[in-house]
Amino acid sequence: MPSRLHFRTVVISLLCCLVVLPLASAQKTKLTRVQVQQLIQAQTPDEVIAKEIQDRGLSFPVDRKIVGALSAKGAGPLTLAALREQIREGEVEVRDTEPGSQLHLDGIVAGNADTLGYFALKEVPEGNHELRVKKDGYRDFQVQFTLANKEDKQLSAPLEWLGGYLSVSAQPADAVIHITGPQSFDGGTTDIKCHTGSYTFTASAEGYVPQTRTFQVDAGEHHAEQVHLAIDQAFVASLLADAKAKFDTRNFSGAIESTRKLLKLTPNEAKTEEILAEASFQTGDFQSFLDAGSKAIASRGEVTVLLMHKHSFPHYIVHDVTLIVDRLNVTYLPATDTKGCKIQRFTQPLRTLRSIGVQRDDNGVLELHLEFLSIKKSILSNHTDAYGNQLIVLDLVMGGSTTNQHFFNSQSQLVQQPANAEYALSSVVGLIKWAAAHPEPTQLSSQVGSTTTGTTPNGQDLCSDYNSCLSAGNQRLFHDEDRSSAIPYFQHALDFRKDATGWIYLGTAYLRAGRPTDVTTAWDEFLKINKQIGMPVCRSNGFDECESGMLILGPKNVTWQVAGRTVFDVPATKVKVIGNDDHQSEGFISFGLEVDGTKYDFEFVTVGVPLNKGSKHVFTDVQGMAQQRIVGDYMSQTIKKLAAGGF
Ligand SMILES: [Zn+2]
Repeated sequence: MPSRLHFRTVVISLLCCLVVLPLASAQKTKLTRVQVQQLIQAQTPDEVIAKEIQDRGLSFPVDRKIVGALSAKGAGPLTLAALREQIREGEVEVRDTEPGSQLHLDGIVAGNADTLGYFALKEVPEGNHELRVKKDGYRDFQVQFTLANKEDKQLSAPLEWLGGYLSVSAQPADAVIHITGPQSFDGGTTDIKCHTGSYTFTASAEGYVPQTRTFQVDAGEHHAEQVHLAIDQAFVASLLADAKAKFDTRNFSGAIESTRKLLKLTPNEAKTEEILAEASFQTGDFQSFLDAGSKAIASRGEVTVLLMHKHSFPHYIVHDVTLIVDRLNVTYLPATDTKGCKIQRFTQPLRTLRSIGVQRDDNGVLELHLEFLSIKKSILSNHTDAYGNQLIVLDLVMGGSTTNQHFFNSQSQLVQQPANAEYALSSVVGLIKWAAAHPEPTQLSSQVGSTTTGTTPNGQDLCSDYNSCLSAGNQRLFHDEDRSSAIPYFQHALDFRKDATGWIYLGTAYLRAGRPTDVTTAWDEFLKINKQIGMPVCRSNGFDECESGMLILGPKNVTWQVAGRTVFDVPATKVKVIGNDDHQSEGFISFGLEVDGTKYDFEFVTVGVPLNKGSKHVFTDVQGMAQQRIVGDYMSQTIKKLAAGGF
């Protein structure tokens, strides 16, 4: 064991020196790196070396690398711990820099900032250093700093953006956006950073014509691009054709899907709403039928419903009919080979609608009951009321189809109604009532042209005698979009002949124009001549349907008649006038009277005036709440005048 002996000798002599030297200098000599290494190599006990390091200190700067190297040479855990205590280093925290930016410490990559723009550099030796922060598109950030032992240094490293900023959007909101160029983006952007250069932007959406644009973004520029995609008319046309084809092949749900897609592109389009309404009716979605149907009508479309006309006499039979509802009319179209039906094809203005509702006949069959006042004495009329009004009365039941002609000779077959018949018929009633209440589309007045302010036609220029004035006025009152245009014609008719007809029409034209004082004047003139005025009204009786009849004022009494039966006929002094009752929550107005303790609520669905009782009637209709209020006020005044002794 000669080598071992030699080692021990060295250690002993070394230790002698170690012990001796401090005594000699009164101050311990710091250990050199070589000495530490020798002690380790000499297998000096771990705790002895550690104690020496702690007592004497080290003559060289220790760093992690040296500790690692000594560990590799066999330094024990206590020695290593003692060495680590001698390391002089601190920590650098970098803040406020760009997320993902790369940090270089003294030219060596140290790592990347996190998503909050933060990075901590640990175990940085004391002394002078250089930090550099880099990110693509930004100017490099560089800083020199001195770190003391155990220092926790905070450094802020903001990076300056060298590119521009980009905002991109497209209409419709669900358009697909792609941006390519120095950078690529999918979807819209709002002032995001982008590299400078030329970009291409494409936007597309189903049913729209795609758009592509190229643009340049410069340094520091906030660039914005916005596109409104145009609807692809060819796509719309083909989708509409598709919806129609599906409807025609009775693929109603397919038709609904196509129309809903179309309406996203072209809302309220009449043809589309028509198909949606009719397909919804077929699938039993009556709410959608009403929604789409009213939109179709408001957009000057028409809604077709397939029903059956029911005959009770002489035989109990039904046949197919097509009912077409538009903004102004109801068209009744019996199947072509229908035989034995007196009522032929007709188109009747909605304003002549006198009664509508769903009812059950004597056999319990649900039917849509319709009554129109016939404008002219006509072969269409199948009823005459107690005042000589020509009526068209229809009872329609469910079950119509485009392809089959239904004839039921047996009553039991007819009684087998679809379970949703009541909802179905009620929705048709709802649609017709809606159309009747909305005769004037909101944007029509400018297209009519006849009565814009300042250009009201002068009746004298337009008609030359009583009859032609009256007929021209009637034409406008009953068929024109702007019915107040009838006023000058009736005024001029009265220049020729002051008769009851002229006055009642003129009053009605004033009613259309919303001129209550003039209504009173004209209708009072009518009363002076005619001695009584009768108003077709519908009495609300707490049920879904109202009871239609005639309220007659004059010469001394107030009379209420239903289908020729007199409900009351009392002197005006016995009538308590309640007047207009604004049912605010329900959105309608009724006119109230109290007779013998019973309250009667009337609605002026149609205003009629018997000229010569039993033969000739003129009538008009009340459109909307404002006119309802005017007529109600007129009736109140007139009953009071009557009670006070005359008109
Ligand atoms: Zn018939």
